[in-house]
Amino acid sequence: LTKEPIVLSQLILDSLELFQTSLKQRNIKLVMHLDDELIIYGDHSRLKQVFYNVVDNAIKYSYQNSQINISSYQDGSFAIVAIQDYGIGIPANDLNRIGERFYRTDKSRSRKTGGTGLGLSIVKEIMLLHDGKMDIKSEEGKGTLLLLSFPIVE
Ligand code: ATP
Ligand code: MG
Repeated sequence: LTKEPIVLSQLILDSLELFQTSLKQRNIKLVMHLDDELIIYGDHSRLKQVFYNVVDNAIKYSYQNSQINISSYQDGSFAIVAIQDYGIGIPANDLNRIGERFYRTDKSRSRKTGGTGLGLSIVKEIMLLHDGKMDIKSEEGKGTLLLLSFPIVE
């Protein structure tokens, strides 16, 4: 892990480049509200992997023609990145197991779009290596809010 100061908004924008095609194909509108002043300390490529995985999920589990909101803001000594989608959501019963290796909900398992169920376990691990954390709030059939918290560099 090679840590350096990173402009969070720039990192988020860098991570989104790969998704332009899939967003267009599924007609999903991306709405962003990013605080340009937030600086965190971390490993650039590992953190790109974090954003890649969470945005991949937000798109994969969104309904067509919906919207994804990505915002970043300061909350005390933490920088928060919030990724809100309006997709299939996660049943309450599954919520505490999301992020375990290979754990996928029934609906995701039966989807044509594949996945291994490793993405969020990797995200959790990388967040811990950055003294940060991942939280999920979700409602089945309505959508998911994924929150990433990082300590801020003053
Ligand atoms: P991959 O290894 O390709 O990421 P995956 O997307 O199935 O596969 P995770 O990213 O770890 O694996 O997510 C685990 C499970 O959590 C998913 O299979 C899905 O059931 C659920 N999940 C994650 N993000 C969302 C989301 N935004 N909306 C609904 N369900 C989600
Ligand atoms: Mg995934």
